[in-house]
Amino acid sequence: MNQSEYIKLLRLVRTSIEEYKNWGEDELVLDKSILSEKNKQKDSAKNEKTVIKGIEQKTVKQENIQMKKATKQEQSLTKKATQTKNAEQKLEDLKDQICACKKCELGKHRLNAVCGSGDPYANIMFIGEGPGFQEDHEGQPFIGKAGNLLTKIIEAMGYKRETVYIANIVKCHPMKNPENPELKGNDRPPTPEEMQTCQPYLDEQIKIISPKVIITLGASSTRALLKTDDVISSLRGNFAEYMGIPLMPTYHPAALLRNPKLKKDVWHDMQKVMALVNKKG
Ligand code: SF4
Ligand code: URA
Repeated sequence: MNQSEYIKLLRLVRTSIEEYKNWGEDELVLDKSILSEKNKQKDSAKNEKTVIKGIEQKTVKQENIQMKKATKQEQSLTKKATQTKNAEQKLEDLKDQICACKKCELGKHRLNAVCGSGDPYANIMFIGEGPGFQEDHEGQPFIGKAGNLLTKIIEAMGYKRETVYIANIVKCHPMKNPENPELKGNDRPPTPEEMQTCQPYLDEQIKIISPKVIITLGASSTRALLKTDDVISSLRGNFAEYMGIPLMPTYHPAALLRNPKLKKDVWHDMQKVMALVNKKG
């Protein structure tokens, strides 16, 4: 190797080392055995050559490792970004379908379809019965008195309302007198047929969100998902499964407003849920 080739090589090595530093490394470990052994040799030119080769090999190897690490990080960020977009987009597309839906009578009289709200990647999904007066007016789930209590339960569990997902078994307001959505006290539970007709939308939401645990609030959603006629007082507190996901049935917040003594049971059920979510990491 002539002198200019030698200088070129040294520059290349320096650039490689700087690159290496740019990837966040501040220490370059040389192959000490090469250094010490070769230092003993009298032929210093040969010695330098070997050292440079050592540095070169190490630098390239370390660079490759760093590059791989960075690429992996980038890939996982891109994957997350794509996933986020996908889940949000999928929920938006579903919302468009629901808003246009007239598959059952409820669709003909609703003021607003109430699809759901919260984090598309929530660990916990709450499923209520159906929109009431206020939800029908504003298009958001659980915003009345029962909704305020649900928010308190969520916060007592250590979450914020927007970090869980809240939906209902039917998306349109079941009314005793469907001709008058402005009438207060006009709410009624959905019929089994209405729930069955609407359920594919909920299934799709569960598929998109893929929560770690589902909490059904009250008898309607619990019975519909678990296909049982058992009473909620015997179902609550015991994990079941829906679409391969653990499901905890508990009382509806409206029942707690009528009978505050039930709060204690709901709190026990939520503690089981919290333990499961923490275990699942
Ligand atoms: Fe469609 Fe469900 Fe509304 Fe019935 S309740 S119209 S199935 S979105
Ligand atoms: N009750 C429900 O079951 N769902 C709501 O969205 C509001 C009240």
